[in-house]
Amino acid sequence: MLIDSYDRVVDYLRVSVTERCNFRCQYCMPEKPFSWVPKENLLTFEELFEFMKVAIDEGVKKIRITGGEPLLREDLDAFIKMIYDYAPSIDLAMTTNAFLLKGTAQRLKDAGLKRINVSIDTLKPEVALAIAGKDVLKNVLEGVDEALRVGLKVKVNMVPMKGMNADEIVDVLEYSKARGMSIRFIEYMENAHAKADISGMKSSELLEILGKKYNFSDDGFDGASPSHYYTMEDGYKFGIIEPYGDDFCKQCNRIRLTAEGHLIPCLYFDEAMSIAESIKRGDIKGAALVLKEVVKNKPEKNRWGGDDAEISSRAFYETGG
Ligand code: SAM
Ligand code: SF4
Repeated sequence: MLIDSYDRVVDYLRVSVTERCNFRCQYCMPEKPFSWVPKENLLTFEELFEFMKVAIDEGVKKIRITGGEPLLREDLDAFIKMIYDYAPSIDLAMTTNAFLLKGTAQRLKDAGLKRINVSIDTLKPEVALAIAGKDVLKNVLEGVDEALRVGLKVKVNMVPMKGMNADEIVDVLEYSKARGMSIRFIEYMENAHAKADISGMKSSELLEILGKKYNFSDDGFDGASPSHYYTMEDGYKFGIIEPYGDDFCKQCNRIRLTAEGHLIPCLYFDEAMSIAESIKRGDIKGAALVLKEVVKNKPEKNRWGGDDAEISSRAFYETGG
């Protein structure tokens, strides 16, 4: 079992399989980064899988594939199948912008993927164009329908921003609810790569808007996810991810692996250690030692909202959020 210096059990690994993306979301990578990691620096799926086995053997129980946009990487279903065949009981999920999901959902499901989170910030084509830098909404919504049709469990992520999609919070919740998908609103996390003039919304502002339309109870945290949950009168649950709040890091159970093999203990900070060398020379013990060291060095708390807050320079498209 992997336990950090604050007695938190770390059993969740997020794997970014590429930093590249077909969107240019304002809060993530509004411009194409100055340079991409060259393809030869990426770990192959076989190499990533070698590390997945180490992590699973050390106690990881949940793996989420993310990016950049994970569906841009070819043969993703083969990678998913490798993990599934090794440990069928692993909670295997993916986060995607859904643009390419219509043509891939069935293969991913057949390979062993159980759940996906899709980013839906708006239901208006012109707002989707403004947020993603491209006319994406039709493909995204068709991708979601196909994922539901093939039987994947789907959750929706929305990042509400003032003057952009703040007036659609109820609409996106209703869209999700009508399709049996739960929704999590993510507070915009300031970072150096995002567009400078974004004005995110805090949990209290979201609750004020939702409170005008619905009655709901506060369920707190469930221990398994970073979301603060609320239940509406009809039983529908929604979540808010509050990285600026005091409780956000208390139950953090995750570490992140980039496509290049950097193992990152916290989404906010730049610190990382590489497993690439060990994996490439087949040194499984070495990779396990790096994993344990990264878990040991996991910081107690991020600095969003702290008195000494600085803008994080850690890119979401590298870590996978
Ligand atoms: N491309 C996929 C997608 O967009 O779902 C996966 C990668 S993306 C980096 C993962 C998640 O991070 C998305 O739900 C996205 O909304 C979220 N995200 C990216 N930048 C963010 C920011 N600055 N603040 C809050 N959430 C952010
Ligand atoms: Fe791409 Fe996801 Fe970042 Fe948007 S949030 S630019 S879809 S990686």
